[in-house]
Amino acid sequence: MPRNHTFRNKGIVLHKTKLGEQDVILTFLSDDGSQRQAVAKGARKPGGRLAARCDLFCEVDFLLAQGRSLDVVAEASLITPHQSLRTNLEQMSCASCVCEIAQHTSFEDAQDGFLFPLLSRVLLAIEQTATTEQLDLIVTAYVFKVLAHQGWRPQLDECIACADSDVSRFSAAMGGVVCESCASDIEGAELISRTEISWLDSLLHMTFDQILAAQIDKQTASYLVSLAHIWAVTHLDCRLRAFEYYVSL
Ligand SMILES: [Zn+2]
Repeated sequence: MPRNHTFRNKGIVLHKTKLGEQDVILTFLSDDGSQRQAVAKGARKPGGRLAARCDLFCEVDFLLAQGRSLDVVAEASLITPHQSLRTNLEQMSCASCVCEIAQHTSFEDAQDGFLFPLLSRVLLAIEQTATTEQLDLIVTAYVFKVLAHQGWRPQLDECIACADSDVSRFSAAMGGVVCESCASDIEGAELISRTEISWLDSLLHMTFDQILAAQIDKQTASYLVSLAHIWAVTHLDCRLRAFEYYVSL
């Protein structure tokens, strides 16, 4: 590889880690769906050239210089700044939760054409929300869509243990809905209504335009987001702190 080899890469900034006094390691979702890291030198300098262009949730066109261990940001131009995601507390918390899930569902050197357009649309949808219910639906839809894509699609039509169609509980560990009788043997099977099951099924298929136009009551929306949290924690097998914070708001 020639010295100072540079290349362009579009990405969405998912996470920032401080490096020394003035630098930052950026974790971003590349437009090929893989997860990458790069050093942004001087990105912690107040008013620095890179600070505003490498902020969380920004969609950026990077020029990266190949480094010995980590690539270095040579230039960054903003494609979509997603400004309101850093100024509105509820939207910021929602975007942090979505980016946390994106970090746990993308991997270095693993290309996946589904992930970048989905995350890009979700961040824009968060900015387009007017209510908490809409935010809850967006998070729920994102979690179930991205996890279903990676193999964890919930079974919602019949009991996952005995195939009975009269279901009343949801078990993330079992992978979907269960009937009352099977639920007695399953720890942590949550009560779920027909309406809530039908919402989960719809959210797997709805576009974000449709989700933004949908009407739902606060209680149902907030219950759906709690199921999405259990689903993500169970299948990603990790603690999700940004998601915990969002649910606690
Ligand atoms: Zn059953």
